[in-house]
Amino acid sequence: MSHMFFFAIFGIQDKDKYIGTYNNITCLSCGRLARYEIYKYYRYFHIFFVPIFRWNVKYIVKTSCCGCLYELDPFVGKEFEKNPSTEIREENLQKINCYSPFKYCANCKTDVPAEYNYCPYCGGKC
Ligand SMILES: [Zn+2]
Ligand SMILES: [Zn+2]
Repeated sequence: MSHMFFFAIFGIQDKDKYIGTYNNITCLSCGRLARYEIYKYYRYFHIFFVPIFRWNVKYIVKTSCCGCLYELDPFVGKEFEKNPSTEIREENLQKINCYSPFKYCANCKTDVPAEYNYCPYCGGKC
């Protein structure tokens, strides 16, 4: 914590801000009906905790079903911020990561542990 004094005067911070929700999507990862939660991430430079400028702005989409993360096209993200009825299409999203320990068996509609290649409930490939 020796750099606390330095940061008290000016510094660089990361910030994330919840922007809104986009309903009625079919999840690209697990196939369930879900919604996107949209966040804006940016880095800013501040002096005495007053933000001076921002850069590295990214729009991140999280699925409500399985928690997959996508990076949203910044142009679409900006539009969505102004107008929450902006359409978010599949091609605007780039997959970042999926933290879900489960995958979804469409055959028997069950969550299956991600390490299984075959569904332990119905025996189908998933
Ligand atoms: Zn999902
Ligand atoms: Zn199954």
